[in-house]
Amino acid sequence: MPKTVVKFGGSNLKSKEDIGRIIQVVKNYRDPVVIVISAFYGVTNYLIDALEKARHDESVAKITTAYLLRLKREALELYFADQHQLTKISAEIGIQLNELERFLQGIALTGDASAALEDHVLSYGERISAIFLTGILASLGIEARVALPESIGLVTDGDFGSASVDFVKSTASVREALSGDYISVIPGYYGLSLEGKTTLFGRGGSDYAAAAIARCIGAQSLDIWKDVNGFLSADPKIIENPVPILQLTYNEAAELAYFGAKILHPRTVEPLSAAHIPIRIFNITGDADVSKPLTVICAEKVVSKGILKSVTFSEDFGILKLKGSGVGAKPGILAKVTTALHGAGINISSVLTSQISINILIAKKDLSIAYTLVSAIDLSVVAKVQIIDDISVVAVVGNGIAENYGVAARIFTALARNGINVLMSCSGASPIVSYFLVKSTDCIAAVKSIHHEFFETF
Ligand code: ASP
Ligand code: MG
Repeated sequence: MPKTVVKFGGSNLKSKEDIGRIIQVVKNYRDPVVIVISAFYGVTNYLIDALEKARHDESVAKITTAYLLRLKREALELYFADQHQLTKISAEIGIQLNELERFLQGIALTGDASAALEDHVLSYGERISAIFLTGILASLGIEARVALPESIGLVTDGDFGSASVDFVKSTASVREALSGDYISVIPGYYGLSLEGKTTLFGRGGSDYAAAAIARCIGAQSLDIWKDVNGFLSADPKIIENPVPILQLTYNEAAELAYFGAKILHPRTVEPLSAAHIPIRIFNITGDADVSKPLTVICAEKVVSKGILKSVTFSEDFGILKLKGSGVGAKPGILAKVTTALHGAGINISSVLTSQISINILIAKKDLSIAYTLVSAIDLSVVAKVQIIDDISVVAVVGNGIAENYGVAARIFTALARNGINVLMSCSGASPIVSYFLVKSTDCIAAVKSIHHEFFETF
């Protein structure tokens, strides 16, 4: 029987209790699993900060590694009665931290870091998590070994900061390396370029790493442990009793993640959908029962009664607006603009055009650089380039949206009833999603109105 790939994220690595829960979950899988683990909660952010500061402060290297050593040591001491084990694991973590310290010192010396070095430095959070968990499992008599992406042959396309796995080059070696009759613990978040350089999969990329590994070994399933109740009809921080979603298709899950559902990295389904490997979402604060996932993501399509499965939102997008009478009719504008944005590594999430304006949806963090780049292009028909950043994107997702009439009418009626103005909207880009833009100040009310209309009135 194929193995299960089990992913624990930063949200499972916050406290002593969390580590206890991870151990319980691992014990509950009867057969050896492949574990993919993230950095401890907050550690990647800490490293990003250190990377920045190290460029002009040589004391940062020591401070950073001392902090991380203390963090791990305190967590380890809670679990190891055995002094010998404690010394052994601390020494292994110490080796990693020494390396990290030397890299940070190098950055301080030159005042600079290449993209390759940045990716490498940021991978240490995951590296030490893997050594940490393996040590704890071993101390409990559970046979576990660290399997670094470099030793199992997880090869990427070499794109620093947002790499993809090269399955042609990775599958055979990853499969072979993970076939042993023991638990393998893999640091997520990165793979290796053909030249052997660390390449990150992007923020939150351990989900994608776990999915890629699941695909390489033809896993039974990818089990993702979170600290929330799986996918829900809306964010429980906004809606008091959201409806649990027991089953989603790969596409529904991908769209929800893309439009802001924080539960899964949007790229997680990519490696798994063609291979029909299910993703199962669990809540680690529950009873650790490995046979009762809260949400299963698979190929089987379910159309729910009210069509919609969930309403989600994102505050991360903004609009770059190009105004001018005739921008919609003049060929070549988008080609120039998208080439410039692509050159700066800026991803375009959506484009909505009309005769007198072009609206480009991009991440808020990219808006000002995009504005500078686009303003510098010679575009005769564009009278004005403008940034709009006080907007939110609200999206509804569900199989059947495109095939059933009346969904859009209900959405817009519910919004109008609550006095919410829709700035822009888009349906049909994918058959299972409709999304619209509102002023940021209207976002929560928009989510509530739609949730009320589709999930609270029968
Ligand atoms: N530690 C990385 C991050 O915080 C990767 C992950 O957690 O998935 O982005
Ligand atoms: Mg994460």
